Order: sequence, then C-alpha cells, then structure tokens
Amino acid sequence: MENLFGRSRAGLAELTAGLGLPAYRGRQIFRHLYARGVSSLDAMTDLPAALRQQLGGQFDLRHPRVAARHPSRDGAVKLLLELDDGLRVEAVAIGSRRTALRRRSGRAPARRAGSRGSGSARRRRTRGTPEPPRRPAPVDLTVCVSTQVGCPLACTFCSSGAVRFRRNLTAGEIAAQVLLARRHGPRDGSCGPGGRTNIVYMGMGEPLLNTGAVLESLDLLTDPDAFALPWRRITVSTVGLPDEIRRLGQAAPRVGIAVSLHAGDDPTRRRFMPIARRHPIGEIFAALADLPRNPRRRITLEYVLLGGENDRPDDARGLVRQLGRLAAAGVRARVNLIAFNPWSDPAPGAPHRPGTEADAERFLAAVSAAGYVVTLRRSRGRDANAACGQLAAQSPG
Ligand code: SAH
Repeated sequence: MENLFGRSRAGLAELTAGLGLPAYRGRQIFRHLYARGVSSLDAMTDLPAALRQQLGGQFDLRHPRVAARHPSRDGAVKLLLELDDGLRVEAVAIGSRRTALRRRSGRAPARRAGSRGSGSARRRRTRGTPEPPRRPAPVDLTVCVSTQVGCPLACTFCSSGAVRFRRNLTAGEIAAQVLLARRHGPRDGSCGPGGRTNIVYMGMGEPLLNTGAVLESLDLLTDPDAFALPWRRITVSTVGLPDEIRRLGQAAPRVGIAVSLHAGDDPTRRRFMPIARRHPIGEIFAALADLPRNPRRRITLEYVLLGGENDRPDDARGLVRQLGRLAAAGVRARVNLIAFNPWSDPAPGAPHRPGTEADAERFLAAVSAAGYVVTLRRSRGRDANAACGQLAAQSPG
C-alpha cells in the first residue's frame, strides 16, 4: 500500500487527476492529511464513501509509530519514532511559556523570549531583563525535527554523528514529526489557544544533505492548506554546505538559517568538524552573503562551548573577527552560544567536557561588548537525553 501521508499538493493533484476526479478532491485530501492530521482515510468524511473505498484499495495513511515517549523534568518531551522500515529517529517537543522581556532602556517594546528562531531553550538576553508576565502567557511549542537516520558528518561533540548513517528521511517523515509532537508533546496546553509552533531543523542529521526532502517538508509546513506555519517560526540548522545554502536560500528565501560555526578560525573548527576540511568559513560566509536579502531575518551562528577548547578569550576574539567579516559582507547575524551537553551513549562518549559557567559568561560578555547580539542557551530536555546533539536513537539491527 502506498502511504498518502507525505504527498505534496501537486502529488495529490496528480493522483486525483489520474483517478478522473475533480481537482478539489485533491485539495480536500491535502487538508485532511496536514491541516487536520487525520489518521485514516475513513476520517475524511466529506469524501464520498465509494471514493474512500476506492482509495483504500491502493492507498493508506501511516504516520511513524511513537515507540517511546520520554518527558524530561523541564517540560521537553523526546519522542522515539519508528519508521516504516523499522529504523528509528527522534523528535523533541519543547513547551515554553512566553515571558515578557523589557529592554533596559525601557523604550523598546516588550520582546517575547523563546519564541523566535531556535527558541527551543531557556536563554538569557544580554540586553533584556526578564519580567514576570502580567497574565498567564500561552504556551508555545518548539519542535526539533530530525532529517536523517544517523548522520554521516561525525562532528566530534555530537552523538548523532556517532551512530551509523542509515538514510535520508522523506518529506512526509519530517513533517509527521510536527504532527506527532503536537499530539504527544508536553501536556501543558501547548496546542491550546494562543499557543504557537516553532520548528527547528536541529534534530538528527544534516538537513542540507537532504535538501530536496527538507524543501518539500517546508512546503507542507508553510502551505496555508496544510500546517500553515509562518516562515518566521522555522529555522534550518546546517554545518554550512555552501552550495546547498544557496539552494535553500533560492527555494525558501524566508526560512531562518542557522549555521553551526563552533570556532572562530578554520584550524580549530577542523578539529571538531571533519566537514570543515572541505568548506572553510570564508566559503560558507560567501554563500550567506549571496542569499536573497530578508531584512527582517538574521542568520544565527551556533557555537557550542567546549571546555578549554573553544571557549577561551582568544576564541571569543576569533569569533568577533568573523562576525566583523560577515557584517562587512552585509550579513546580519546573531550568535547563539550553547552549553555543551555531554553524552555517553554511544560509548565511549564525546571527547569533550562542558566549560565553566564563568568562561561562558566571559565569552558572552566579549561578543556582546563587540556590539553583536548574543544569547547563551542552556539546552532543555537534558535529563531525558533530549537536548542538542543528544539525539542518537539506536536502530534495531
Ligand atoms: N546538522 C545540523 C543540525 C543538527 S545539530 C547542524 O549541525 O547544525 C543542531 C545543533 O546542535 C548544532 O548547532 C550542533 O552543533 C549542536 N550540538 C550537537 N551536539 C551537541 C552537544 N553535545 N551539545 C550541545 N550542542 C550540540
């Protein structure tokens, strides 16, 4: 049986045309699959019973199976999802209550924390002071999606790179993670009124080694008849593959882009990221400079702080130099510092350790003092191994 879930709008139009049905039938099915998220053909009650039966002879509707659900104490929920072929990936659903933030000047309008970009984490803004919300804030949901089973890039600090790469996910398998995260995520009203959904492509795998399926999944997530999510709530995170960054920028100019930089110079970067041997920072920045300009969106540079390896004052100076280069090329960027999440599975674990709080503070202060927007992220979901770089679902066999 062919799975209908994952078919694009055009794919469904083709299917209905092939069956000699009017075009609106394709649109109806499209909405059922993604806007309503129905779990069976029978739930498509506005299709004639005879048509449902006809479709049922050739097609069915399958979502990945939720093999396990691991809630962590801070409200993140890791879902272990089993795909049709038995392979497993993980998705993380993170609930966050919006808190008002006011700039010290008191003049700028209140900003919402945890609602932009990779807003998956508790973060501190260098330029804002948290204020208690005046009324109970709605709960937003951030979904961290995987794009591959395993990852071939083997960054030394990332557990996904330590499991064997098996295959790319399909667009349907990527989009289904959002549906399942809404259904099985934190039980705190995340999907309730006023709640918003943010998507970060920061789970297992390298999205830009699977750009075709990622683009198709973005279509599903943003189509007004499907998930209808605003582009500004979606961020794709990449190790920085220049040609693929250009391709993403052409095809999806409004999507947020995060680049995992992790070092202020190429030799340091090459120590943690084998892919850096192929693509020096300068090449990645040239691709970023080529992106169609979206004045409202900044590029995010992610920087995992590895104790004693890239978190010293010299490293901060290196990063600031790179930020200067980006700015000179006309690229607006922000820096997201991430505390390293140690992991031990798969053995022998990561050859790194987290830095001290004081070093993180010093690093943050140095980047901030140079005039750049920088946040420090302490990942959520750590006690459920659901934090950044801890998604390493073991597959059977
Ligand atoms: N391949 C993509 C997306 C997946 S990783 C990329 O590299 O961007 C998402 C983010 O988590 C990246 O910035 C990655 O470097 C970071 N990360 C990986 N392992 C981590 C760990 N153990 N602790 C903290 N962050 C980690």
